[in-house]
Amino acid sequence: MQIYINGEWRDSSSKDVLNKYNPANGQVIDTFPAATKTDVDDAVDAAEDSFEGWYNLGTSERAKILFKAAHLIAQNREELENLLMLEVGKIKREASDEVDGVLDQINYYAEFERKLTGQIVEGTNSKRKIFQYKVPYGVVVAITPWNFPAAMVARKLAPALLTGNTIVLKPSSDTPLTAAWIVKKFIEAGVPKGVLNLITGKGSEIGDYIVQHKKVSLVTMTGSTSTGQKIMQNASNNMAKLILELGGKAPFIVWKDADIRRTLKCITWAKYLNVGQSCIAAERLYIHEDIYDEFMKKFLEVTKRIKIGNPETADLGPLINKSALKNIQSVVENAKESGYKILTGGNVPNLEEPYRNGYFFEPTVIEDVNQDSPIFQEEIFGPVIGTEKISTTDELYRKANDSKYGLASYLFTEDPELMLEASEKIRFGELYINMPGPEASQGYHTGFRMTGQAGEGSIFGINEYLKVKNVYIDYSRGDLKINTVRDSLFDNL
Ligand code: NAP
Repeated sequence: MQIYINGEWRDSSSKDVLNKYNPANGQVIDTFPAATKTDVDDAVDAAEDSFEGWYNLGTSERAKILFKAAHLIAQNREELENLLMLEVGKIKREASDEVDGVLDQINYYAEFERKLTGQIVEGTNSKRKIFQYKVPYGVVVAITPWNFPAAMVARKLAPALLTGNTIVLKPSSDTPLTAAWIVKKFIEAGVPKGVLNLITGKGSEIGDYIVQHKKVSLVTMTGSTSTGQKIMQNASNNMAKLILELGGKAPFIVWKDADIRRTLKCITWAKYLNVGQSCIAAERLYIHEDIYDEFMKKFLEVTKRIKIGNPETADLGPLINKSALKNIQSVVENAKESGYKILTGGNVPNLEEPYRNGYFFEPTVIEDVNQDSPIFQEEIFGPVIGTEKISTTDELYRKANDSKYGLASYLFTEDPELMLEASEKIRFGELYINMPGPEASQGYHTGFRMTGQAGEGSIFGINEYLKVKNVYIDYSRGDLKINTVRDSLFDNL
């Protein structure tokens, strides 16, 4: 594949390329350019030069292009689904679900075409007004992760473009092909030259440069907290506004009165979706002691039934790459060394060819995890979950909130009083009660603590891409009294 700068597909200025592997079998499927600083400069310049024209086009015209992009994606959705299966190893159902999410997001944002507003505020007298315009930032850098590579790209491109910003997109090095596919559809839909640019290459090599570029005004990034911290430091050089959607460590709470079948379905979704590589994945399972044995027996039964392998037919695909697999193996090894009991899983499965060299790992459940253990404190990002018994609501809130992350949380109970109390006391950006995620386009996806800042979705998310500009106007005529300026200075003038 190639990068896309100022309306042209091209190689990187150094001609260097990187390999993209299929996580299901470890084979190289394509190469992609390792962009250089020169390429970054070209992309940012193109985005800046095209900004005025794109902004002046108006929101309705921009929305038409977004609707058309969604239409083109819908028409070719099977291609995108297949790419997600190839590039991420998504199982078929999940690939299809992600494409639904992409379409929903683009259409949702485009529907704001006639809903954006500023306001007029009264000044200090009736002839004075303050016009508060909402204006785009200018050049936006969008940095995306690999776990939902189509949805994350759509969720950044659509609001940034609708609001009149221009973009340099830098996708994850694990999923450059999906990003390029989506960019093509936006271009085909009519996004003008320079407005949308695609740069690929290692974040560790070009990331610092792109974030602190003097012409960049906003950086929207989804990824790990450690990368988010680097971005924050770098953005201190250009004061770019930041939207940072970072790590999660969701508590999944099963109260004593939970509907067990319904809860089992939801934990299966929340833990094993995308092989546990989701920022809203259940990572800490707290179960009320009264139903612990019954719930665990059934949860283990479901977990053992999960089919691993061929993304076309399996329930669980591979992890994204070799280092993700090594990371999960070390989580489990460390748990064993610390004396934890692995109730099921814990190994690389023995699969037939061609999946023998893929990055698969068994769904794994670890019992009686101590609250201070890394299993409950660090993001695992794989098909592994720790469990613990709880008995009181105080314990529920204390343990659920005891995390440096604060994105998603889940509660299963039939008790309306507990639902309301938990809505107040659980300090996470999202609380799902008796239902699975994911977040809706009309919800505001945001996190507390080290999960980042700002958010995406809903009118709150759109406003993140708009700056408020104030114009003060006095339309009275004639002389003016200014308290601190002596009037006699102007005598006879
Ligand atoms: P990551 O390693 O932090 O990478 C995210 C993006 O940042 C990639 O495009 C990466 O490029 C780039 N990057 C790396 N170093 C950079 C630097 N110094 N400056 C600028 N960009 C840089 O995260 P990931 O492994 O792709 O994604 C998994 C993480 O994302 C998890 O922590 C998950 O919880 C989080 N996530 C959060 C949300 C949310 O909404 N809160 C949603 C999805 C995922 P390269 O790929 O080239 O390194």
